[in-house]
Amino acid sequence: MTFQPTDQGFYGEYGGAFVPEMLHANVEELRQNYLKFSETEEFKKEFQSLLKDYVGRPTPLYFAKRLTEKYGSKIYLKREDLCHTGAHKVNNTIGQILLAEKLGKKRIIAETGAGQHGVATATVCALKGLQCIVYMGEHDIKRQAPNVSRMKMLGAEVRPALSGSKTLKDATNEAIRDWINNPNDTFYIIGSVVGPHPYPDMVARFQSVISEEIKWQLQEHEGRENPDMVIACVGGGSNAAGAFYHFMEDERVKLVAAEAAGLGVDSGKSAATSLLGTNGILHGSRTLLMQTADGQVIEPYSVSAGLDYPGIGPLHAHLITSGRAKSYPITDDEALESVLEVSRLEGIIPALETAHAFSVLNKIEHHKDQVIVVNLSGRGDKDLNTYIEHFNF
Ligand SMILES: *Cc1c(COP(=O)(O)O)cnc(C)c1O
Repeated sequence: MTFQPTDQGFYGEYGGAFVPEMLHANVEELRQNYLKFSETEEFKKEFQSLLKDYVGRPTPLYFAKRLTEKYGSKIYLKREDLCHTGAHKVNNTIGQILLAEKLGKKRIIAETGAGQHGVATATVCALKGLQCIVYMGEHDIKRQAPNVSRMKMLGAEVRPALSGSKTLKDATNEAIRDWINNPNDTFYIIGSVVGPHPYPDMVARFQSVISEEIKWQLQEHEGRENPDMVIACVGGGSNAAGAFYHFMEDERVKLVAAEAAGLGVDSGKSAATSLLGTNGILHGSRTLLMQTADGQVIEPYSVSAGLDYPGIGPLHAHLITSGRAKSYPITDDEALESVLEVSRLEGIIPALETAHAFSVLNKIEHHKDQVIVVNLSGRGDKDLNTYIEHFNF
């Protein structure tokens, strides 16, 4: 079984590029150029140098002694929370801004839900002195005020999406409309392994530095490159794609995806896409998405803003339906419990998204020779208000 996409971007039956005719030229330009540029020595050198000196890579692979004592498997944490801006998302925006430069684009657009991808995009636009416009649902602008301020600090313009539910999907529609109207000078930076081909593959490649580092770091710690299991949370799936990437072809490494079950898989307030999703087209790719019988997207819910996406990337749809990866639904309450546990046992306050990955430790069997890597996708500072409210601190 292979988990690399075909030339047209298909992972099994998922993926592809289902875009309106007016976007075809933009997507095709990217498809023809993304590997041509990103595989050159010059590009790799600049990408690696920024990852090292700007982002702070390699991020540590930390042996979590007290979690290990509690659960019984050997648990390592891949510290993406220590990346500049506090999460893995910047690995990808650095890659895409370099590509935008190579393609001669002067104007960057992005859409954001929780604002994390908006901040990561505004950051690299400041770094490169490029114009940055971030579309964000009006409702999300109110809910995520600190990230809106961060984007503005960094020089980005935040444009509210006023239609529909005024959330992520409406912001995405606005960004796509902008791209159609500005086909020549504009680069659209997508924040996860979603969207039309080549985005899922491009983003997975930029994030694959995570598992590339895990391999040599685990070799140093354990004398072997491969863990027995890698656990990551999945919103669109970019941190998971990065953590899984170099292990996908080796069936001995179990791949585990934690999804947001919200108030419960059957509660009607959930984002457990791989369980509740059916085949359809979302944001230009064929994948599993939560939809009504007549194909309307169901508004997802999770306490964690970064996981409430109604679909998953086509790579993950393929990994999960083929049986290569297993997904676990994690409720809001379970995730919040894990936040406190990791804070108290390891002195690390994780992001709410990341906490879903930690909750999987309660759902699997452990034994002392089993080596598990949990991808610690981001730090919890941005979620402090939720934590204060929930725990009454
Ligand atoms: C955005 C975000 C996620 C979810 O996005 P993926 O593309 O699924 O990785 C997970 N963790 C953190 C900390 C995030 O900011």
